Amino acid sequence: LFVKVELAEGARVTPDSGAQNYILNVLRLGEGDPLLLFNGRDGEWRARVSMVSRRAADLVVERRMREQTAAGDLEYAFAPLKQARLDYMVQKAAEMGAARLTPVITRRTQVRKINGDRLRANIIEAAEQCGLLNAPELADALGLESWLEKLPPQRLVIFCDEDAELSNPVEALRRVAAAAGEAVPVSVLIGPEGGFDDVERSLVLRRPHVLRISLGPRILRADTAAVAALALVQAVLGD
Ligand code: SAM
Repeated sequence: LFVKVELAEGARVTPDSGAQNYILNVLRLGEGDPLLLFNGRDGEWRARVSMVSRRAADLVVERRMREQTAAGDLEYAFAPLKQARLDYMVQKAAEMGAARLTPVITRRTQVRKINGDRLRANIIEAAEQCGLLNAPELADALGLESWLEKLPPQRLVIFCDEDAELSNPVEALRRVAAAAGEAVPVSVLIGPEGGFDDVERSLVLRRPHVLRISLGPRILRADTAAVAALALVQAVLGD
């Protein structure tokens, strides 16, 4: 369970209302029951419910079970979608090991206002589900051009485009990654419901390290393409 407070032996924790609800109504824990806590900084700790009432539970932290792990470096850059699909996409990207999620606004992006709190809650839920000690960071939204300008030049952009030539993306990624060196940092870029336009395609392709890939002959929904592209990157380069 994610908590915002510092974790140390003997610390008393009063979870926030969302976490209280999860403890009382989903996990249905009672006094003395154990659970695992993380905060993204101090590793994973075993705690116990020290007091429980109808509406609240207090916890006491006992022992560190896992050291904090370093955050990864895989960026998932995506044009925001409408709410339910965006929730799904963000959760799946976190589950698939993206370390930073960056909303990128393109010309055909229909959704330009993002509820950061809601997305962060989805990310935390995904981190809890996966036993991830580092919840991925949600970066500020950027226009496509600004995002490209800010990217460090050595980053490899996996540009997912349904109009790309059909070829084996696993082999292409292996080849490019081998040429760039083992630990090449990667950003995966997925477009909006209406895809990228030709001006955007040439803008992305002007960058030095870009691999434009097709994920197969069918046009996938953006949220499906997210999972497929991240699975590909993890299969070839992942830990
Ligand atoms: N209209 C559908 C939707 O609402 O989700 C399809 C959207 S598709 C155009 C959105 C993005 O998914 C594209 O910009 C691209 O990044 C990625 N994508 C979808 N199918 C793909 C494919 N076969 N190969 C590579 N990328 C793909």
